[in-house]
Amino acid sequence: MKVRYTKEILQDPQDIHKNYENFILTKNTEFCCEKFKAYCKKFTGWDYNKGKFIIVDEITYEGNSTIPIIFCPFCGEKIEYEDIENTKKKNSKK
Ligand SMILES: [Zn+2]
Repeated sequence: MKVRYTKEILQDPQDIHKNYENFILTKNTEFCCEKFKAYCKKFTGWDYNKGKFIIVDEITYEGNSTIPIIFCPFCGEKIEYEDIENTKKKNSKK
């Protein structure tokens, strides 16, 4: 399955000299299988800081430790991540 996202750069509310990136998953994402789609609806499958789908590895007192995934945990299809803005830039050069 192909996953497309856009990236926005936001100012860190704690420190005006720092920026952080926020990855936004496009709404019309076509999932490789119904199981993965249902999983992402039920849990927050998308990580806004990493720009990847994640699965929860361990639940600790501090929070959850997560692993970014590049293969669907249900059907095994490869997940390709694509930055839409980068793609646009490449196309406009032609
Ligand atoms: Zn799948």
